[in-house]
Amino acid sequence: MRGWEQVFNSQPKIARFIVNSYRKGRLVHAYILEGAKGVGKLSVAKNFAKMLLCESEDKICGVCRSCRSVESETHVNVYIIRPDGNSIKKEQIQALQVEFSRMAAENAAKIYIIEDADKMSIGAANSLLKFLEEPMKNTYALLLTENRQMLLPTIRSRAVVLSFKAMGREQLIEQYRAAGIHQYASIVASLTQNLDEGIRLAESEIFISLIHLILKTEECFTKTKLDPLVILTQNQELFKEKDTQFLYLNLLVIYYQDVLKIMFGKNEDLSFEAYLPSLMASKEENTVAMCLNKIQVILDTEKRLRANANMMLCFDQLFLRMRGGFESCNMR
Ligand SMILES: [Zn+2]
Repeated sequence: MRGWEQVFNSQPKIARFIVNSYRKGRLVHAYILEGAKGVGKLSVAKNFAKMLLCESEDKICGVCRSCRSVESETHVNVYIIRPDGNSIKKEQIQALQVEFSRMAAENAAKIYIIEDADKMSIGAANSLLKFLEEPMKNTYALLLTENRQMLLPTIRSRAVVLSFKAMGREQLIEQYRAAGIHQYASIVASLTQNLDEGIRLAESEIFISLIHLILKTEECFTKTKLDPLVILTQNQELFKEKDTQFLYLNLLVIYYQDVLKIMFGKNEDLSFEAYLPSLMASKEENTVAMCLNKIQVILDTEKRLRANANMMLCFDQLFLRMRGGFESCNMR
């Protein structure tokens, strides 16, 4: 079955299980797809729907009208529910039930996918439960969650659990490289397991600018002895968004984790592997204790930013503390 190939590579057990169940006519009415963010739960759910709805003999063809509309989330037989704000509301589940009852006479399979199913309100979960207790013919529920323990036990007991294994780091880096991201593959792999998100990030100008800024910040400590705040001020435009501020700090932590790895002789798994000379220079300037302290200071700064402290003030204190001065400064 085409279309499953990628899943066979990344989640072989799950792909084999679903395809075999389908071939033997043993699909059940409800599945829980459990796994970390970005591990491919939605893509497996869509494959499941394509397998049942594909118009070609060679399921999954990926090109027929059905396959394409499942992919673009416009197929009438595939109903996707996502949290409305922070939760999935009872009305959303009821709307699904109305829609599917209307189609009850139809022979074609009907699939509903609930993303972040653990975010169902109690009312929504109870409505769903009734639906699961009396499944309609040829109707399949796919409940996606990062943690099945967050679902009601009564829902769990009515579904088959498919646990996704986390992608290994090497495998992830390989996938990023295959997607054309080379220099930054190992850095992006440290930031996210979600391929789409990672690719978007690595292709953004802001990300590339931030990497250069990290290296420049480090040069201030190792070479130029300039105040890193000056460089930050020159690039203030970049930091308008909160997300960018956090990303910068995140990258700085990853950088120092790399320096620590080198200190412990673990040179083979570095995020900033493309920037080894810079890492080596930082290694010369730091001890293990200093690196650990810097990481702690960066994490403190992140916490302060989340509490809406003034950004420039936060970064000013960050650099002071990273220099080893200002030790007694109260960061709270
Ligand atoms: Zn097809």
